[in-house]
Amino acid sequence: MNSTALHELSVAQLATQLRRRKVSAVETAEHFLKRVHANAALGAFLDLNEDVTLAQARAADAALAADAAGAPLLGVPMAHKDIFVTRDFVSTAGSKMLAGYRSPFDATVVTRLAEQGVVTLGKLNCDEFAMGSANENSAFGPVKNPWDCTRVPGGSSGGSAAAVAARLVPAATGTDTGGSIRQPASFCGITGIKPTYGRASRYGMVAFASSLDQAGALARSAEDCSLLLSAMCGPDPERDSTSLDAPAEDFTVTLNASLEGLRIGVPAEFFGAGLASEVGTAIDNALKEFQKLGARLVPISLPRTELSIPVYYIIAPAEASSNLSRFDGVKFGHRAAQYSDLIDMYKKTRTEGFGDEVKRRIMIGTYVLSHGYYDAYYLQAQKVRRMIADDFRQAFRQCDVIAGPVAPTVAWKIGDKADDPVANYLADIFTLPASLAGLPGMSIPVGFSADQMPVGMQLIGNYLQEAKLLNAAHRFQQATDWHLAKPQGF
Ligand code: GLN
Repeated sequence: MNSTALHELSVAQLATQLRRRKVSAVETAEHFLKRVHANAALGAFLDLNEDVTLAQARAADAALAADAAGAPLLGVPMAHKDIFVTRDFVSTAGSKMLAGYRSPFDATVVTRLAEQGVVTLGKLNCDEFAMGSANENSAFGPVKNPWDCTRVPGGSSGGSAAAVAARLVPAATGTDTGGSIRQPASFCGITGIKPTYGRASRYGMVAFASSLDQAGALARSAEDCSLLLSAMCGPDPERDSTSLDAPAEDFTVTLNASLEGLRIGVPAEFFGAGLASEVGTAIDNALKEFQKLGARLVPISLPRTELSIPVYYIIAPAEASSNLSRFDGVKFGHRAAQYSDLIDMYKKTRTEGFGDEVKRRIMIGTYVLSHGYYDAYYLQAQKVRRMIADDFRQAFRQCDVIAGPVAPTVAWKIGDKADDPVANYLADIFTLPASLAGLPGMSIPVGFSADQMPVGMQLIGNYLQEAKLLNAAHRFQQATDWHLAKPQGF
């Protein structure tokens, strides 16, 4: 088959071509590696190991030759956000603290995908320890948005989203703590899903905020995301005590269910003054399309939406300050070259190893957990977190899925918010509520701004209702072609 077209194929189509032996896994991997090199200026990849990639591809070809009906992802190349630790690739979490670090084991999600025959192309840039909304906090430089290289790709899974949008890889893993799959998917015009908290194992994900961190998938379509998620999810009781006891599901089997009678909740609080009008218009048009497909719109209220920002930016830094205490120059990664005693070694190591945003969060987190402030901040935030989850519980009595914008605006210019942490935090307003409640959420492309930047719609489901989200997104994508649009030059 004509190899120039390989990167235009969806995961599902590519898997079929591989099974039919129209193309080999080795040719496929080589084709994508070539694209990765040719587009290195995007800054999407942090590590490659071509020997390993090609060895995995040869193994996939052998398996395909032996059993063409094998696993559905056999021979399909993917890349992993650098939050997932990997034995064969460097794992940095976007931090100087872990520059050059090699893990002795693979994250469970990486293992599960490898067991399905996925070929790993490399590791993808991200905000340092997944803290950020623009991928400008990576110690290894920013990632550029393929739709406009002067703009951010979103974050923290910015490398994943940019690589998929630029067709450097058909699909990628990401992690979402407060929006880091949905928001970059939206900014780069691709599809992304974060499952229910606990559905995919956190084992081997470098921890940011453990009660929020969740692995998920980024690809061009809901159909592709459903293939990936089916492989990634499932209990991991021995390695992640918070992994849910919910069996792995095949999310592809329910993709074609009718949307007739589906009740889509539209929260008033997601359409307020802060929403850019061009984003609002694209979302309204998408809602009309859903109505044509048989869905019914139900006005709902998520009254504590605004509070999700202060609540998240207390809880996430609190957990981060604890999780990051392990980076002390003794157990992992970077250690200062010169120091006078143990305390001095800690100080210099952490001063050198962490970037500004990470230090800011360690300080905020330590403060809100400290004696005298714990009750006023951390405990209070936990109470409001519960109330935010209760608001969703109420809402899901009236509707099956919730729809709204992913972010108030399209992707901004690189540098525009780089020195203004609060401006970054405020842009998370629509993704934080579902994260705090532990609900599944996804982003699908639904239009463009006047300057041709993609707009994403967020779909939020009730607990363990990923299939419903993927079905709704898939039906929408069968009726529209926003997800097929591609950035010029890629
Ligand atoms: N933007 C949010 C933050 O900076 C969310 C990041 C994430 O989901 N990892 O914390």
